[in-house]
Amino acid sequence: MKICVLVKEVPDAAVEKRMDPNTKRLDRSGEKNLNPFDTHAIEAAMQIRESGALDVDEIVAVTMGPASAFRALHKAVSLGADRSIHLTDEALAGSDVCATGYALARVLEAESPDLVLLGQQSDDGECYTIGAVVADHLKMPSLTQVIKIDVQDAGLRCERQAEYGYDTVDVELPAVISVGDAINEPRYPSLKAIMGAKKKPLDTRSTGDVGIDAGQVGADGSQVQCGSFKAPPQKSAGTIIEDEDTNETVEKIMAWLDERKLI
Ligand SMILES: Cc1cc2nc3c(=O)[nH]c(=O)nc-3n(C[C@H](O)[C@H](O)[C@H](O)COP(=O)(O)OP(=O)(O)OC[C@H]3O[C@@H](n4cnc5c(N)ncnc54)[C@H](O)[C@@H]3O)c2cc1C
Repeated sequence: MKICVLVKEVPDAAVEKRMDPNTKRLDRSGEKNLNPFDTHAIEAAMQIRESGALDVDEIVAVTMGPASAFRALHKAVSLGADRSIHLTDEALAGSDVCATGYALARVLEAESPDLVLLGQQSDDGECYTIGAVVADHLKMPSLTQVIKIDVQDAGLRCERQAEYGYDTVDVELPAVISVGDAINEPRYPSLKAIMGAKKKPLDTRSTGDVGIDAGQVGADGSQVQCGSFKAPPQKSAGTIIEDEDTNETVEKIMAWLDERKLI
């Protein structure tokens, strides 16, 4: 069987996120990283393979993003994926959630996966929706917030984390599953795996290669338009209390909390 894992390159957590006032899109300059939530999806694919419960021939990492996004794919293969696919094309810039899901689904269609795994959210857009959009295009069942996957005869038994508790859901394959970060503890890549990542096959595809209708992607193919936005208000400077006499410091902290009715 074939597992495709969707991965995304996002601004590093330490980078302050800003909107670009000219394009009205996220300013994606600065340090970038593999979306940390996607490392759980790769780990889930690896654990299914290593358990031996299913015969996994291939784990394929797939991303849509600008030229730099190949680095996220290198990380994904260093964590265990066998090969990767990079969908990149100027025509895709400015795609909203529906357009992004449609484009990714076209790449996946060409791969005919038995299972598509995603992270629960991207660290930048945080829409939590790509899994459902992709599943709709592929006409596959969709499960979200999955924190346990067990292989059953006819498919998978999954545990979903919900606000009210847990759901246990049986799903037949092929299916699209986004995993919660509680599902596993992602492994660290070994030095050998990092060095070997560049040797694993990476296919670069354009919109034309996978039959994407250019009218359904990019800014023109997107229904969502960003209106006005403002930077969040500046935080006021905090109060610094020098600890010269601990008793006095504690009193000052208690008085500060009391004044704000926090105790
Ligand atoms: C008007 C508008 C313009 C935009 N312009 C751009 C742009 O120019 N460039 C840009 O990069 N984004 C752009 N975006 C953001 C883009 O639409 C979102 O990144 C995309 O819809 C995914 O949403 P999300 O990142 O919140 O994913 P979520 O739904 O939170 O992500 C869930 C999971 O989906 C998978 N996933 C998400 N995105 C990708 C991806 N690209 N490739 C592979 N897997 C993925 C990952 O596994 C992730 O963990 C724009 C959004 C809007 C509204």
